[in-house]
Amino acid sequence: MTVIRQAARPAGPPREEDFEVVSLPVPDLVDGHVLVENLYLSVDPYMRQLMDWGGWELGGGLEGQSIGRVLESRDPSLPVGALVVHRHGWRTHAVPAVAEVRRIEPAAGVPLSAYLGILDITGLTAWVGLTRIARLHPGDDLFISAAAGAVGGAAGQIARLLGARRIIGSAGSAAKVEHLTSRLRFDAAFDYHEGRPADLLSAAAPDGIDVYFDNVGGEQLEAAIGALREHGRIAACGAVAQYNTLSTPPAAPRNLLDVVEKSLRFEGFIVNRHLDAREEFERFLVPRLRDGTVLIDETVVDGFENTVPAFLQLLRGGNIGKMLVRLTAE
Ligand code: NDP
Repeated sequence: MTVIRQAARPAGPPREEDFEVVSLPVPDLVDGHVLVENLYLSVDPYMRQLMDWGGWELGGGLEGQSIGRVLESRDPSLPVGALVVHRHGWRTHAVPAVAEVRRIEPAAGVPLSAYLGILDITGLTAWVGLTRIARLHPGDDLFISAAAGAVGGAAGQIARLLGARRIIGSAGSAAKVEHLTSRLRFDAAFDYHEGRPADLLSAAAPDGIDVYFDNVGGEQLEAAIGALREHGRIAACGAVAQYNTLSTPPAAPRNLLDVVEKSLRFEGFIVNRHLDAREEFERFLVPRLRDGTVLIDETVVDGFENTVPAFLQLLRGGNIGKMLVRLTAE
């Protein structure tokens, strides 16, 4: 089997040299374990944080979510051919314990890849951020940053179905802005490179917003704090603008006092602590994926050898929707 490992700690944006690809023998299968052939790998911004925090030991395998098919089984509960999601990461094959995998049985009309994207952590993050953290009400005006990304695009589509009034998104290119307004039905969108985020947001939402779904941090967070109405809510989901410079304190937001003066609620969350929401979320989403009410937005890169380039591309904004690597035909 082939495995991608972290070879060095990046200073700033990661480079190809920070990774190495190695061939390893497949370990002998012991009771309670399965041999899985990976079909799709997920590349995610949080992996950049882990590269600094030591979650991946140097020279170790890279942790990450994958979908695979069971090739050999030493546990009767998981037969050969079963499809599973696991976190053994960027490798062609894995040998997880049965307790480390989640079996999936794709619903008719829903593609397998969705089980690593909008029907997995990506969509669940959007759902939890909107329903449990922002407590979105029908009629709320909402701003979402990194809105053309995996979580952002899911959040915009779900918010519409939950009754949000005006949905505004930011993204990093004109093509993404167009995608947001034409394909994902955002009411307004802007490219955050085109000016000061505070000016761009106030042009898009002159009457302010009730909720900010924050994927980015920094200047866009500052802009949102400025635009939020009294008793507005911020669901702090991520801060991707800061992941390459985590050791340097960010210059923005500089207006945290507004959180006090406007009685804002600013609440962060980690989706893994809300996995109990998965069932209600799937009940909500699966029928809407089937009938096309919610689009499955993804950028699929083919070939295991393109995993690291896909990850580097993701961090530079080279994706629309969920970024996935497809290893082999389903
Ligand atoms: P995305 O698909 O959104 O990909 C990351 C995007 O970030 C890129 O496409 C790029 O889009 C944008 N980006 C990169 N650098 C910058 C920058 N300097 N400023 C602004 N935008 C930037 O990834 P995900 O949907 O997987 O993740 C979105 C956020 O959600 C991340 O912050 C992630 O850490 C967080 N997250 C949090 C979870 C939780 O439990 N709290 C769980 C899962 C994800 P663009 O072209 O628009 O710049």
